[in-house]
Amino acid sequence: TTPSQPKHADRSKLYMADLESTLHYSLRVEAARPATLSGAQLAAFKCYVATLVKYFPGRPCVQTYLQSLDGWLRNWTEPELPRSALKEAVKNNRDASHPAVLPTNVTWVGCQGSEPHFRGYPCGLWTIFHLLTIQAAQSGPDKELPLEVLGTLRCYVQHFFGCQECAQHFEAMAAESMDQVAGREEAALWLWSHHNKVNARLAGGDTEDPKFPKLQWPPPDMCPQCHKEERGVHAWDEPAVLTFLKAHFSPANIYLDYTE
Ligand code: FAD
Repeated sequence: TTPSQPKHADRSKLYMADLESTLHYSLRVEAARPATLSGAQLAAFKCYVATLVKYFPGRPCVQTYLQSLDGWLRNWTEPELPRSALKEAVKNNRDASHPAVLPTNVTWVGCQGSEPHFRGYPCGLWTIFHLLTIQAAQSGPDKELPLEVLGTLRCYVQHFFGCQECAQHFEAMAAESMDQVAGREEAALWLWSHHNKVNARLAGGDTEDPKFPKLQWPPPDMCPQCHKEERGVHAWDEPAVLTFLKAHFSPANIYLDYTE
């Protein structure tokens, strides 16, 4: 099988189509799987949507969509949220004076795999996670609520991420070191370095898209200044990596190609 249409993605850019496809899948498919949400799972969902409202740099109609979903969830004070009610709440509202619309189509651009079973949603989820930790690092004092975003992502993965084996691996890494993160910039670097650990573990495995080999990222051709050598061994220049992440995961680097 070949992808439905050839897309020309630039790996140095982010694509809004990937981000919106990911949000559509996460909010309307993945989170809507349980028959009811309650307890820690409901709290994790509310927290995830509130974090998106705060830090996701979406198009105006998507921002409105997230704000209205967040407002609806805040008003939902019963202990159980049935799937039928959630399914209604995650629908678009095009008629309001401010349309609340998250496109319902799934289009992968930067996350397009060479075959349909490669890349796509998990690639988009990592991208959104990095984007959120970087946006949080760019706003507010560094030492204030360092785990605001990272903790929310941890809960989302634990309670909703459909790949259970992935969720277990991620939770094990989080339990080991996430609580030691003391600042927002450190949180963004924690996610970067742990994503690289996942890349190293998965390199050469059967979930790897042969057209997109798992790399220690960013590779030298994307960010030469991120790499250095200490006594003959490779090392990361973390301040340079942080500068690179801030530029790569910035609203100015999100392209609208292929959005509806
Ligand atoms: P991805 O790893 O998905 O990365 C997406 C994009 O992010 C890349 O194209 C690149 O532009 C950028 N990027 C790459 N590395 C970094 C980095 N270190 N920092 C910042 N940006 C980076 N799959 C498994 O088979 N087993 C698992 O245990 C597993 N655990 C996962 C845990 C989580 C939380 C998530 C979100 C996914 C997990 N996956 C796991 C899926 C796997 O990590 C990939 O997402 C998937 O194989 C698609 O890979 P990809 O080539 O599109 O790149």
